Amino acid sequence: MPRVSDVLLVRRRHWLQALLALALVPWAAGGQAQGRPLRVVASFSILADLVAQVGGPAVDVTALVGPDADAHVFQPAPADVKRMAQADLVVVNGLHFEGWLTRLVKSSGFKGPVLVCSDGLPTRKAVPGQGHSHGHDHETADPHAWQDLANARHYVARIRDALVAARPEQAAALRERAAAYTAQIDTLDRQIRAEFATIPADRRRVVTSHDAFGHFAAAYGVEFLSAQRWNTDSEPSAADVARLIRQVRQQRATALFVENISDPRMVQRIAKETGAVVGGMLYSDALSAPGTAADTYLKLFHHNAQTLLAGLRRSP
Ligand code: ZN
Repeated sequence: MPRVSDVLLVRRRHWLQALLALALVPWAAGGQAQGRPLRVVASFSILADLVAQVGGPAVDVTALVGPDADAHVFQPAPADVKRMAQADLVVVNGLHFEGWLTRLVKSSGFKGPVLVCSDGLPTRKAVPGQGHSHGHDHETADPHAWQDLANARHYVARIRDALVAARPEQAAALRERAAAYTAQIDTLDRQIRAEFATIPADRRRVVTSHDAFGHFAAAYGVEFLSAQRWNTDSEPSAADVARLIRQVRQQRATALFVENISDPRMVQRIAKETGAVVGGMLYSDALSAPGTAADTYLKLFHHNAQTLLAGLRRSP
């Protein structure tokens, strides 16, 4: 068994090697860089899609945490350090979602702008008495703000402004793309509100793996229950799962859903013990793989809403 200190030493050596490799990369001068697409590194797949939608041909965007992957527990590899170092712009969510970011920025030597998409949004605090608490006091706000389409408008506006600042000569095209995309967000938002309004408020109750849908809940009047809080880095306790099973048994009209980034076994167990049916897959913190049901943010949102609506309509 390697000791912890040995493991840390090996990891530090990898980082050093990555940094040395970077020293050999020829640097493009700032002035020469204007003709090529802006190199954007987004922290996770949903933000990468928003940047691609707004930026179009003006950007070359990649995500550090890709489709179906969990950004809460991400561990950057040397290749990520290199990508970061070569970026023109870094786009992140903020609200402590990317706990690994500060160290990665420091290791890469990245000195460019870091756009925090959630800056300026009102924060959604934990509701006292809901969910559970076991030492997550450092979490002051729910980071999953993208689960409300109104917040996505805010993200898009901030991304547009950051891209315009980096590529002022393309400002008109960037503003046009952002406006067209925002119109799509608004249309979807209106559709989803109208559809949820057809389900009685006391029947909109849902169980998921981790508490990623608080913003969705507030926006569309759906109650979400989960055994895990905003982070996924620890297993839910037996008491938390037992509490959830009690709630599902006591309350009518509860539909259960698994998430693409989480282990489905806990939700499957609750279904088995309560006789409730798993109503499908929700995409919480990541897109699905390219070419599948939720490979863009708008498809993800549409898929989640339709899956929830279908599950709630079926639930007894
Ligand atoms: Zn999450």
